[in-house]
Amino acid sequence: MDLTSPKTIKNIQTQFGFTFKKGLGQNFLTSPAVLEDIVDAAEIDGGVIEVGPGFGVLTKELSAAADKVVSIEIDDRLLEVLEYTLAECDNVKIINGDILKLDLHKLFAEEFPNQTVSVAANLPYYITTPIITKLLEERLPIRNIVVMVQKEVAQRLQAKPASKDYGAVTLMCRYYTEPEIVTIVPAGLFVPPPKVDSAVLKLKVLDKPRVDVKNEKIFFRTIKAAFSQRRKTLLNCLSSNFSFSKDELTEIMESAGIEPSRRGETLDINEFAKLSDKLWERTK
Ligand code: SAM
Repeated sequence: MDLTSPKTIKNIQTQFGFTFKKGLGQNFLTSPAVLEDIVDAAEIDGGVIEVGPGFGVLTKELSAAADKVVSIEIDDRLLEVLEYTLAECDNVKIINGDILKLDLHKLFAEEFPNQTVSVAANLPYYITTPIITKLLEERLPIRNIVVMVQKEVAQRLQAKPASKDYGAVTLMCRYYTEPEIVTIVPAGLFVPPPKVDSAVLKLKVLDKPRVDVKNEKIFFRTIKAAFSQRRKTLLNCLSSNFSFSKDELTEIMESAGIEPSRRGETLDINEFAKLSDKLWERTK
């Protein structure tokens, strides 16, 4: 059964009375070449976790490349479809649940004890950032995350300081990973086509975070504060988010080698690390 064929997708829809739910980001991939790109980029060595199998088009390819695939799908209407489409893939386990609500530490420990796994997915776009944030912030044993996301999101996650796409999520990804755009995917390669083009994004998880910080909470709070009001100076942004006077903040920023008149979006990750360390020293 060729799950990349729009005709097969239509037939399965008819057979199971399945209609796409836009609210669940159901845009199914129909390109064998892009599937191959995702599987190659995932560098699978043992286990793989997938988010949102849909009709199972990517799951099937992952199953051929992995020892074991665990795939999490929120839409229970898809369970009987997947039983049919993946009947021959006996190394696939489907879990019916919401990726954002699952206890992933428990899932990894039960399904992949003492292993580092790859994550591969054509993500539901309405929750791309929360999913990536959860996968990274929970410090799970993940080798790399290869995901289809909106093109704009992929560009944001790769953006350079001072560009319009650079933001808190860029820095979160840079802290934990080396991001790379694998390929751009036109909207016409999905059924139904989404409104925007997509990109396959690879996030290679670093052995340890890119910068050493004294306190991660303060590091991320500093970043969040810096981007809270883009038109304001960093000094004003920090002053609305930390309980220091402007004089104290000026002194802290200067001790980190950062001009108080700069805007948050001009700082690179090393500067954020320095600044947050200085803020942390004064908060203790
Ligand atoms: N993997 C299929 C493909 O490539 O054609 C389908 C991808 S489709 C873009 C996203 C899938 O994620 C859908 O099957 C949708 O039902 C599922 N999904 C949406 N929200 C989810 C959530 N919170 N947890 C798990 N799966 C979810």
